[in-house]
Amino acid sequence: MMGTARRPGTPGTGRAASTDAVHAGEQEPRPEGAVVTPIYQTANYELRGEDYHDIGYIRLSTTPNHRVLGERIAALEGTEAALVLASGMAAISGSLLTVLSSGDHVLVQDTLYGGTASLLQQDLPRFGIGHTVIDPQDPSGWAASLTPTTRAMYVETLTNPLVQVADLEAVVAFAREHGLVTMIDNTFASPINFRPAEIGFDLVLESCTKYMNGHSDIVAGSVAGPADLVRRVKVMQDHLGGSLDPHAAFLLERGLKTLGVRVREQNASAGRLAARLEAHPAVSVVHYPGLESHAQHERAARLFDGFGGMMSFELEGGTDAAEAFMSALEIPMLAASLGGPESLVVRPAAAVHAGMSAEERAKAGIRDALIRFSTGLEATEDLAADLDRALASLPRAVAGLTA
Ligand SMILES: *Cc1c(COP(=O)(O)O)cnc(C)c1O
Repeated sequence: MMGTARRPGTPGTGRAASTDAVHAGEQEPRPEGAVVTPIYQTANYELRGEDYHDIGYIRLSTTPNHRVLGERIAALEGTEAALVLASGMAAISGSLLTVLSSGDHVLVQDTLYGGTASLLQQDLPRFGIGHTVIDPQDPSGWAASLTPTTRAMYVETLTNPLVQVADLEAVVAFAREHGLVTMIDNTFASPINFRPAEIGFDLVLESCTKYMNGHSDIVAGSVAGPADLVRRVKVMQDHLGGSLDPHAAFLLERGLKTLGVRVREQNASAGRLAARLEAHPAVSVVHYPGLESHAQHERAARLFDGFGGMMSFELEGGTDAAEAFMSALEIPMLAASLGGPESLVVRPAAAVHAGMSAEERAKAGIRDALIRFSTGLEATEDLAADLDRALASLPRAVAGLTA
């Protein structure tokens, strides 16, 4: 059953996420009565006796635009504090560099966002930070990967592009037992569908570029968690310089106001399209956590309030059919990224996961023929008709329908 009874919000607001997305953290009193937070387009502010970290300066993320967003995102994630940053990668890199020091080690799940994976593989080892890849579905194997310097565990709520769900409750339990900091990239779910802090995750990271902003027009990121830890990530990013520009902050705040309606619509639309694709004879497999055929459907239904807008699938006709099908689509654009109003389609092996070797992709289960579909906000019936028409346009031999 879906957990409709949960009422996310900062302890004390007692309000639903849709309300917090519109109002949490707004300025009191409203400057000049302004209904929306104005853009504070000023690099620095007059000194009024603040300590160093509270000085008004864009790079220190201390402007009113930053403060409102920090409180709003903390309310949505149900955490003590949150910080907005220049991108999802600023949130991820800043958090890893805060939690881990030279000589430290982190356990990471097997499939990770490409930027995160290459940060771990290419950059962090130069600073003496190592990692071990664990199977997120098999907690019995995790202890063997621990070292005396293991400090943290890093996972993603839904993996890209197979939308798998790690044993998230076991991650929290294992980390508590061994004194590790837990970090989770919640981008594919957004706090409308899942709030990892509710089950005990320490740091919750979002690429706000995706569902949080939801309009495909800015890059931004957020880090949410206990106030002391978020504060340390802020100081790290004060030095690295990955702060969010006030214009982008304004757009993110505007985008966040509709997070609830957007994500619920994308959940509903994706659910209907996934079921329709699964029933189509030209489709061999659909990966979507809302389908009963999904290996972690029971876990997703228990933990999440919605299954998200992302799915992936394969056609009976393989890669040739996938290419022909994607070019026959009229509504979805051929593009990477996700979470915006526009439906997007991409073949990961040829685009977002092209940087991996064929062996690495095979190991991660990312087959060449796999198609990733990010459900936008177009009418479900128009998307369904477009998918049907594109599938019907495939010559029977290409579609793999020989019978
Ligand atoms: C896009 C994305 C990121 C990186 O975010 P940017 O805003 O592009 O820096 C990180 N994790 C996931 C899951 C993403 O989809």
